[in-house]
Amino acid sequence: MSSPAPSPGSTGAPGPTVGVDVGGTNVRAAVVGADGSVAAEVRAARPTDWGAAIETVADLVRQLRKEGPEVPAVGVGVAGLVDDDGVLRYAPNIAGVLGAPVRSELEARLDVPVVVDNDANAAAWGEAVHGAARGAAHALVITLGTGIGGGIIAGGRVYEGAHGFAGEVGHFQVDRHGPRCACGDFGHWEARASGRALGRMGRERAAGGRLPAVLDRAGGELEAITGAMVGDAALDGDADALDVIRDYAAEVAVGFAGLANILDPERIVVSGGLVRLGEVLFGPLRAAFARHLEASELRPRIEVVAAELGEWAGVIGAAAMARELVPPG
Ligand SMILES: [Zn+2]
Repeated sequence: MSSPAPSPGSTGAPGPTVGVDVGGTNVRAAVVGADGSVAAEVRAARPTDWGAAIETVADLVRQLRKEGPEVPAVGVGVAGLVDDDGVLRYAPNIAGVLGAPVRSELEARLDVPVVVDNDANAAAWGEAVHGAARGAAHALVITLGTGIGGGIIAGGRVYEGAHGFAGEVGHFQVDRHGPRCACGDFGHWEARASGRALGRMGRERAAGGRLPAVLDRAGGELEAITGAMVGDAALDGDADALDVIRDYAAEVAVGFAGLANILDPERIVVSGGLVRLGEVLFGPLRAAFARHLEASELRPRIEVVAAELGEWAGVIGAAAMARELVPPG
C-alpha cells in the first residue's frame, strides 16, 4: 500500500522528544520515542489566556522531564495560525494571543530548542511519520470534528505556505451562499461538512419528520440532536440516519475532490470522532469522492483511509517535528 517515497521523519534524534498539543479543550504533553510510542503523558485544562498557556506548557514539560529522560527538544502544536518564527498570530480558543512569541518564550523557559506549528499540521505530520499516511510523500490528513482541520503533506514535508498558514482546509469556500462558518464567512467547507454540520443536517431532517429514531435518542427535543446521535443511529442500521450519513458524506467528498484536484495526493487520511462509523461513512464517502474527482476512472486511485493515531496524532507529530531539531548521533 505504501509507495517508494522520501521517508518522512527518518532524520533527527534517535531518542525520545516531547510533544505538546494545545487543543480546544485541554493541553496534553507526552514523551514520545523515535518509533512514535507514547511513554509518559500529562495533561492540564485549557488555559484561558496566552500568558497562562505558556506557563501551562512549560509546567507540563518540566513534569515529564522530572520523572523521565532528559529530552533534547520540544514540539508544540497549537490550534491557530502559527508563523514560521513560532509566533502565534491568531488562536480561536485562547485570549490575548495576537503576536504571541510562543517559541522564544518556551525556549527561554525550557532551555532546549522548541518548534511550534499549527495543531492540524502537527497531527498530519504524526500520521505521515508514524500513522496512516506513512510512506505517502503526498497526502492530505483531514480531521472531521466540530470544525474541519487539515494538513497537507507534499513532497514528504508538511506544506506550510509562504508564512506558515497553509492547510486551513476547513475554510475552503465551497458555496458562498451556504451556511455561516464559525469564522464568520459563508459556505466554507467546514460549515457544510464538519461534525457540527452533521448535527444540523440531522435537526433539519428531524424537523421535517423524517428522522424519528434519532429524535427519540434526543428525548424528543429537536435542538438536542447532535451529529454523534445521527452516527449512533446509523451504526444501528436506522435507514433514515444512513440516508443522512450518505448526504453528509457527499458534502465531505466535495471538499476531498476539490483538494485532490488541486493537490493530487496519493492518500487522504480521515481523523476525528466520525471515523468510528467505519464503512457506514467510508463506503458512501469513497463513492461520492469518485463521482466528484476529475477523471477518477482514468487516474491512479486515491485511497481514503482512517487515521491510526487518534487523539494522539498532534502530540506524536509535534514530537516528531522536535526530533528534527536535534542533530542525529
Ligand atoms: Zn470559515
